[in-house]
Amino acid sequence: MISAESVIEEIKNSGYKVTAQRKAIIHVLVVADRPLPASTLLARVRRVAGNVSPDTLYRNLDLLLEIGAVNRIKVRGRDLFELNRCAHHHHLICLECGRITCLEDCPLQDEVAEYAKGHEFEAVRHVFDVYGYCNECKGKRRS
Ligand SMILES: [Zn+2]
Ligand SMILES: [Zn+2]
Ligand SMILES: [Zn+2]
Repeated sequence: MISAESVIEEIKNSGYKVTAQRKAIIHVLVVADRPLPASTLLARVRRVAGNVSPDTLYRNLDLLLEIGAVNRIKVRGRDLFELNRCAHHHHLICLECGRITCLEDCPLQDEVAEYAKGHEFEAVRHVFDVYGYCNECKGKRRS
C-alpha cells in the first residue's frame, strides 16, 4: 500500500521538485476511494491548494504518470486517474456500467519483457487495461 510520503519520495528521487500543487494532487488521490475524472480532481485540488489551472493539473498529472505514481484509466471516453497504490497493475473495465476492477498484479510481466527483448528493446514499464463486460452486464446483454 502506497502512502503520500512514498509518492513524494518517488518524485524527489526522480529529480523533480515537490510543489504545493503536486502535494495537493497526491493528497486528493490518496484519500479518494475510486479513480477520479480530471474535473473532480481539479475541484478537490483547488479546495486544498487554491486556484490551480487545468493546465497545471494536467502537467503535474503527466509527470506523475511518467514516474508511475499515477494510473490513467480510459472509461467510455473519459480519463480517470488513480494513485498506483499497490505494485504495478492492470484493470478490467466494463464497457456497459463503467465498473473498474484493479487486478492484484501483472499477469504478463515476464512475457512483456521477453516480447520487447525479441525486438531488441529493453522494457522498463508498460501500460494496458482490459475492456469487456462485467458479470452483471454480461447477463443483461444475453437477455
Ligand atoms: Zn458492468
Ligand atoms: Zn488500479
Ligand atoms: Zn503489467
